[in-house]
Amino acid sequence: MNEKIIDGKKVSLESKELLKKKVAKLKEKLKLVVVSVGDNPASKVYVKQKEKMALEVGYDFWNLHFDTITNKELVKEIEKLNQDTKVTGIIVQLPLPDNLDKNLILNTVSPLKDVDGLTNINLLKLVKNEDSLLPCTPHGVMKLLEYYKVDLIGKRIVIVGRSELVGLSLFHLLLHKNATVTLCHSKTKDLKSYTSEADILIVAVGKKDLITKDMVKKDSIIIDVGINRVDGKLYGDVASDAIESASLMTPVPGGVGPMTVISLMENVYKAWELQNDQKD
Ligand code: NAD
Repeated sequence: MNEKIIDGKKVSLESKELLKKKVAKLKEKLKLVVVSVGDNPASKVYVKQKEKMALEVGYDFWNLHFDTITNKELVKEIEKLNQDTKVTGIIVQLPLPDNLDKNLILNTVSPLKDVDGLTNINLLKLVKNEDSLLPCTPHGVMKLLEYYKVDLIGKRIVIVGRSELVGLSLFHLLLHKNATVTLCHSKTKDLKSYTSEADILIVAVGKKDLITKDMVKKDSIIIDVGINRVDGKLYGDVASDAIESASLMTPVPGGVGPMTVISLMENVYKAWELQNDQKD
């Protein structure tokens, strides 16, 4: 394997083995529930991936699926899951159909069971650097940086993409690690003037080849979060030859993707710990 490649697959497999051992020691079985609505084909694939990994780790798994449902009915269903002591973690699979109020639905999930880390309460805790369930992709990126012993203090980090799911959350997590972080987005003028100055460049946009080799700093570290499917093949947001300038770079697939799934599984365990802390 190219020594410049950040191997998310390897790191996630190691994390999975550690987690499996911890889960095997528990007296009770933890349970992950994915709530899904409608027939989005990509969502079906993602739910299957989560089920496979949950079972491998040793959790129970349930996909609570509705072809159609109203806001009121879905809120009731999630409240039932919040009350159910056998349910450890709850995910609402996104995107939701247009008739549903995403903000309302996500925030109905108990913050102690919010294993996607997307409730307002958990996002505020993240901003305030309080212990919480973190969104899975940002958590996965932080774990990769830690595994590869990337020094963050005082580093110039540029993130491209400002979604809560990825870029905005990473902005806060990296700031808490004392990096100097710049957040770029679709309205940023002269993107290259930022990216070419970055010691660490993180890209989460969803546009193949948005970042080309000439836009990255020599010997920088590149984390490519983007997933773009073109003619049945997966690509990131960073052109693959950018690795020639970088000192380290994540591939797509096999970089951030596997870290997202394992972070979700780790969050289920953490949710169980948080729920037990509350019982004390
Ligand atoms: P999003 O659509 O919510 O956000 C995209 C962001 O990109 C926005 O903040 C927007 O301002 C910015 N943007 C759009 N065009 C731009 C441009 N030309 N220049 C600079 N910024 C621009 O998407 P998201 O949910 O944050 O996902 C981003 C990408 O990451 C997608 O490809 C998604 O599939 C991928 N993703 C991967 C994982 C994983 O596990 N690897 C997890 C989540 C998302």
